[in-house]
Amino acid sequence: MPTAYDATFLQALAGAFFFGTFLNLLRYVFMAGTAYTVFHKWLPQRLAHRMVPGTPRKAAQNRRDIAYSMSSMFIFGATLLAMVYAIKAGWTQMYMDFDERGWGWWLASLPIMLVLHDTWFYWTHRLMHHKKLFRAFHKVHHLSRDPTPLTSYAFHPLEAVVEAGIGPVIIFLLPVHHSAMLVFITIQFAQNVMGHLGYEIYPSWFVKSPLRYIFNTTTHHHQHHQTFNHNYGLYFNVWDRLMGTNHPDYETALAKNTAAPLLPASPREGGGTGHRVAA
Ligand SMILES: [Zn+2]
Ligand SMILES: [Zn+2]
Repeated sequence: MPTAYDATFLQALAGAFFFGTFLNLLRYVFMAGTAYTVFHKWLPQRLAHRMVPGTPRKAAQNRRDIAYSMSSMFIFGATLLAMVYAIKAGWTQMYMDFDERGWGWWLASLPIMLVLHDTWFYWTHRLMHHKKLFRAFHKVHHLSRDPTPLTSYAFHPLEAVVEAGIGPVIIFLLPVHHSAMLVFITIQFAQNVMGHLGYEIYPSWFVKSPLRYIFNTTTHHHQHHQTFNHNYGLYFNVWDRLMGTNHPDYETALAKNTAAPLLPASPREGGGTGHRVAA
């Protein structure tokens, strides 16, 4: 194992920190920033019929969400530093040579990581809602009752550590290629942005199909921000169904929010004003 005094090793750790922080910043700006601009700035009236109803947000919400998201990015950078240390020390199962396991395992590792993360997220999320932990860990994220994509990384630093924890859990448990890990992290952020989108994008046929038993929606996570005590899952609706924690009105709300087509011929077709910000 390299020593702490090895200059190359220290450079690799510093590189991991800056790469991790910068990559998360890029993701936030391009994915969350684009979704926010399109849905909340360009098309709010056109998409008013798809707006997930909720408490109007205060104008200060965006500034708070962005500030906490920045602090989360440094914590994610520090987590990558710790992961690179563990990888170089030979403690993890991550592999670098793609040919070691080939395409079959590379593709299979993606859904396995998603299921593992969904389980991690559901149970840590429920734990952080415990009255003894909520204030210290999770209250910051719930300050945004009416979330937007900018809320996606808005965590208290303690919660950011918990959220980042899935990275070390995966590389200790699973042999994953670093490129598969990169794809997984991008999928998880896309899901996170969708959960906080504020507008329901699924077609109505989805809601009538059994797929609704499997995949989570914007309505699902938005309802969590409104009501606190239901809908804890991330990608899949499986843990919430198994544990009986889906909101009793979830399916009714989902059917209502997807009733009209996403982009109706006339902007007035779905009704609504598109205004959701309080003074
Ligand atoms: Zn949230
Ligand atoms: Zn919560």
